[in-house]
Amino acid sequence: MRAEPKASHFVDGAWLEDSAGAPIEVIYPGTGEVIARLHAATPAVIEAALASAARAQGTWAALRPVERGRILHRAAELIRVRGEELAVLETLDTGKPLQETRVADWPSGADALEYFAGLAATVTGETIPLGRDFVYTLREPLGVCVGIGAWNYPSQIACWKAAPALALGNAMVFKPSEVTPLGALQLAAILTEAGLPAGLFNVVQGMGAVGAALVADARVAKVSLTGSVATGKRVYTAAAAGMKAVTMELGGKSPLIVFEDASLEDAVGAAMLGNFYSSGQVCSNGTRVFVQKRLKAAFLARLAERVAGIVAGDPLDPATQFGPLVSAAQVARVLGYIERARAEGARLVCGGGPGNAGPLFVQPTVFADVTDGMEIAREEVFGPVMAVLDFDTEAEVVARANATPYGLAAGVFTADMARAHRVIGALQAGTTWINAYNLTPVEAPFGAVKASGLGRENGRAAVEHYSRVKSVYVGLGPVEAPY
Ligand code: NDP
Repeated sequence: MRAEPKASHFVDGAWLEDSAGAPIEVIYPGTGEVIARLHAATPAVIEAALASAARAQGTWAALRPVERGRILHRAAELIRVRGEELAVLETLDTGKPLQETRVADWPSGADALEYFAGLAATVTGETIPLGRDFVYTLREPLGVCVGIGAWNYPSQIACWKAAPALALGNAMVFKPSEVTPLGALQLAAILTEAGLPAGLFNVVQGMGAVGAALVADARVAKVSLTGSVATGKRVYTAAAAGMKAVTMELGGKSPLIVFEDASLEDAVGAAMLGNFYSSGQVCSNGTRVFVQKRLKAAFLARLAERVAGIVAGDPLDPATQFGPLVSAAQVARVLGYIERARAEGARLVCGGGPGNAGPLFVQPTVFADVTDGMEIAREEVFGPVMAVLDFDTEAEVVARANATPYGLAAGVFTADMARAHRVIGALQAGTTWINAYNLTPVEAPFGAVKASGLGRENGRAAVEHYSRVKSVYVGLGPVEAPY
């Protein structure tokens, strides 16, 4: 099986290769076989990408917003027309089942392109009357933006960053995770086919060092990172040295709180979606499932029953619901967390070991009787491992849910709407759900508080993060000078 792109990079409107760059082997996690060989960007490739972005941005920003939007709309149409082919590529790149990549990854990316294509022309400034004089404001693009992606939703992440950046008149240089380099290249080719002028969306491959070189460049005005908290701190620090704007979409250990009056079936379904979709490799997952004590036995029984029915297998088989992890390194990491959870006394309800559908599978795993101090309740596993914790009262669960450095997401299941809103109001998280979990429509702002990040993607809120305000004072009378 091969999924070789035309070249490793896409720069200044064309495919670009430089075989002097460090080799990157792309594996298909379904089988572990190598499906493409790429090269990391050399300094020459990085320079070409940044120079072309800086060159192209001014002309792009001078277009009418509807003209920019028209191109993004065309790109979204191309993505929809090629949906199946792109879903297969995403499955090869990530190992996520086709059942997911057909509906979640590129479709969500196309939504972002459509949303920001339409939004572009509605972004305006304001007029501030001052008696005789007045001030008007202009909303300007930032300039050259850098996007750096994680490997769990590579194409969606590229689209979520490219769409608002381009709609508002910026150029972007995007570095995918070296683990999943294929999708962003297709986005660059599709945008070009849709009419995007050369230089406005460049993709360069590489490890952290390539990302760091991009962040440090003086031509770059903004950095948007999706990645771990540790990387986020490094990138934020580097960006601060150049006083650059940042958006940080980082990791989490989000609480999903199930009160005893919740619909059992819905709460169990949401807990499964929020821990096993994409084999648990989702930043906003509800990995601390707090279940009120009276519901605990029924919750765990129904959960074990439904987990037993999960269909793991060949990710390219449309019947498969559950795929492998992205890499051998991730499998080792997740199995390590499982071993340590057992050693700390968490009770294994189901799973707990490697899966048998391929070399990179880990079984959907549930631990019960988890307590707040255990590693499994404190650290992000980024794999199919659910921790179930018990609680008695609302006040207690809110305090425990908030006792974490993270603050990405949170969910509440209850039939009592007053309680639902009260609890959500008290939870420290940027993205939350009531009687739902992990739904992230482009219309809604998505982002975090505390160590999980800052800034917002999606929704109108993203406009703030890809543009800035200029005030223009207009004097309409004589200048009154005291000297
Ligand atoms: P990493 O933090 O390891 O990497 C993220 C990206 O940053 C990669 O492209 C990486 O390159 C790059 N990078 C690493 N070091 C630097 C540096 N010093 N300067 C610039 N760039 C650098 O995350 P993962 O790829 O392992 O993704 C998993 C993490 O992402 C999880 O913590 C998850 O929670 C988080 N995530 C957050 C989301 C959100 O929206 N909040 C969504 C999805 C994931 P490379 O790895 O190629 O070397």
